[in-house]
Parts: sequence; structure tokens; C-alpha cells
Amino acid sequence: MTIAVYPGSFDPITFGHLDIIERAATIFDRVIVAVCLNPGKKPLFTMEERMEMIVRESSQLANVEVGCFRGLLTEFVRRKNAGVIVRGLRAITDFENEFQMALMNRKLNSEIETVFLVAQPNYSYLSSSIVKEIASLGGNVSGLVSEQVSQHLQGKYATTGE
Ligand code: ADP
Repeated sequence: MTIAVYPGSFDPITFGHLDIIERAATIFDRVIVAVCLNPGKKPLFTMEERMEMIVRESSQLANVEVGCFRGLLTEFVRRKNAGVIVRGLRAITDFENEFQMALMNRKLNSEIETVFLVAQPNYSYLSSSIVKEIASLGGNVSGLVSEQVSQHLQGKYATTGE
């Protein structure tokens, strides 16, 4: 049984993330979507909110579960008995950082493989940051995120006024 971990900030989950999750779920026996708590980043959504949104988005996928971690990704992967890290590649700009992380993770644990899934062309421009920027300016984010995520975004910006 091959277990894969798909780590990220997911702040919030977009259709680009969901596409990677769906495709990973057809390749691996189990996929654990892992929300990363990075003390260096200040997310818009709390860990619980991000996890809850992913759970709702992936509820129809029987072999997908949602978790969270802080600290080393390779330690989380090992604790889950997983052998694969899944990452999405959008453009050449993603490549350098992803390449560095994959090599570092291999150095930390040579038994874990990183597998890259190439973004669908129609989602290759899509990121959580751009979605937040549009939503914060009152723009329409339908087609980029689900209706529930869109409503969460509207709620955040209505209350924070950011
Ligand atoms: P991180 O802060 O770890 O990059 P993100 O939530 O931004 O977290 O992204 C998690 C993973 O999903 C990364 O591998 C990223 O390249 C990938 N990803 C993000 N957006 C898309 C997209 N539109 N299509 C495909 N992969 C994506």
C-alpha cells in the first residue's frame, strides 16, 4: 500500500489544489493532505478553518484524509508510514524552490520520494495568494475556489476589513 502526503499551506484550498488531490487519489492508495503550520507565515485562515475546508472539498474521495503538522515534513511523513510526498508544479518559477525542497527532504530521509504532478494549464496561474488578493478587493473568485471557500473569504474580508 502506497501512502502519499500532499503538504501545503492551503490558505485557502483552490481548484488547483483540488485537482492535484483528485489526481493523487487515483495514483496512490491513500492520500493525506497535510496543512503545514509555518511560524514564518501569517495565514488568513486558522489551521482548523483550512482543514475544515479541505475536508468538505474532498469528502467524496474515500482514500483522502486531512491532517496537519508543524516541524519537519519528513518526520510527519515517517510517522504516517508514508513513502511519497506529492507537490504540484505550476510554472518554471515553482521549480527552483520545489527542487531545493525535494533534495533537502531526500537528504533528511532517503526513503521518501517526492513526486510532482504538473498543474492543469487552466489552473497554472492559480494560487491561494492571488485568490486572497482578488477577494480582498471585492472581486469574483468563482471558478477559482468552491462556493463555500468563496463565502469564507467574503466573511474574512468583511470582518477584518483588510
Ligand atoms: P506552500 O506554501 O507549501 O507552497 P501552497 O498551498 O501554496 O503551499 O501549495 C501547496 C502545493 O500545491 C505546492 O506544491 C504548490 O505548488 C501546489 N499548488 C498550488 N496551487 C496549485 C495549482 N493551481 N495547480 C497545481 N498545483 C498547485
